[in-house]
Amino acid sequence: MSYDQIDVPEDGEQITLVDEETGELNVPETPIIPIIYGDGIGSDVGPAAQKVLDAAAEATGRSIAWMRLYAGGSAREKYDENLPQETVDAIREHRVAIKGPLTTPVGAGFRSLNVALRKKLDLYANVRPTYHLDGVPSPVKNPSAMDMITFRENTEDVYAGIEWEAGTDEVQEVKEFVEDEMGFDNTIHDGPVGIGVKPITEFGSKRLIREAIDYAIANDRPTVTLVHKGNIMKFTEGAFRDWGYEVAEEEYGEDVLTEDELWEEYDGEQPEGTVVVQDRIADNMLQQILTRTDEYDVIATMNLNGDYMSDAAGAQIGGLGIAPGANFGHGRCLAEPVHGSAPKYAGEDKVNPTAMILSGREMLDYLGWSDAADLVRDAVEQTISEGTVTYDLHRQIEGGEKLATSEFAEAVVDKIDELA
Ligand code: NAP
Repeated sequence: MSYDQIDVPEDGEQITLVDEETGELNVPETPIIPIIYGDGIGSDVGPAAQKVLDAAAEATGRSIAWMRLYAGGSAREKYDENLPQETVDAIREHRVAIKGPLTTPVGAGFRSLNVALRKKLDLYANVRPTYHLDGVPSPVKNPSAMDMITFRENTEDVYAGIEWEAGTDEVQEVKEFVEDEMGFDNTIHDGPVGIGVKPITEFGSKRLIREAIDYAIANDRPTVTLVHKGNIMKFTEGAFRDWGYEVAEEEYGEDVLTEDELWEEYDGEQPEGTVVVQDRIADNMLQQILTRTDEYDVIATMNLNGDYMSDAAGAQIGGLGIAPGANFGHGRCLAEPVHGSAPKYAGEDKVNPTAMILSGREMLDYLGWSDAADLVRDAVEQTISEGTVTYDLHRQIEGGEKLATSEFAEAVVDKIDELA
């Protein structure tokens, strides 16, 4: 593989796809893994995560050949564009990659590069695990009750980027169409208006919900909860819920039950080895994850709900400095932390790299390197529980030692060496 502006490492091999259906990969001992540091604090957390992942790979008899890719500010410097085609192609070809955050200024004329990247590669499932690490301070009484994994649809919803700016001819045309042709008279106030469209398709909903159910079955998780606001948005979010139940009923046989079936056939006693698909309305769900945290396992939801809910869940297990994520689709994985580029801390060697490190852990798991993935989790957990933490956690604990981003990464590497 050759690119105009990307250096391909000579010491690595490309990951290939073995089975289109199952997404099974052929992973060499030294895979080439693309990495985008990203904007803002990306250049702090990116190298820190790299060090930790290298140490975990080495401790388990492997290595990673990193291939630097560019997007956002670094791409503007190198290519004079925000999201070069070479970057997208390299991730598509190498299949498994990791990225830091990319800045999206609020306002017109700048679409999110994150959304664009996920859409171009059709990485339709944004998966965000929220589990508590010992020693991480939390605003709730029992943070270890949280062990949830959110499957957020990544390509549709009001996030799809179909919207028109107030004052443009286009928005006026859409407004007239909605009012005159579709009969929604007196629904939109007079005066300047911005309008967006919320597409929720059967195809997009079902493929995401299948991923969530498959995950629950493979990982012995008892429930999948469809989170929606279908009481109000009946034909979009309500349809998502209905299609979810359809998938559960039509595609999984007796191993997957709906909540109704659980009560009608088993009087609420869930048979061992089954998965129950249930649904909750999004606003209620945001309080349920606080009040009845341990009742929720796997969540399947649309793009916007998923974004809000996983940040709220992340707060319960230590905040954005901790919360990892990854995007999946078509036998590809692009790991990325939930947090953004936090520009005020950029380059200060200050923020917590744990979210990026644990996103890398998701990536290692996807490679089938579960021993290395476990080592990363254990090392991060033990480092934090010894009180050696970055500023965000340090301000919430008594005592402890405040470390810089790079120092925290070094401490985790030392712990990996100790545990291996
Ligand atoms: P943010 O960058 O996530 O930062 C919000 C706050 O969260 C920070 O001020 C900090 O809180 C805390 N935080 C975030 N990352 C942290 C870390 N690694 N360690 C410790 N604390 C951390 O959110 P934002 O300010 O709303 O967004 C900034 C830019 O990032 C925007 O352009 C946005 O579009 C973009 N963004 C990108 C992605 C992505 O690339 N996937 C995701 C979200 C946002 P304190 O100030 O309390 O210390």
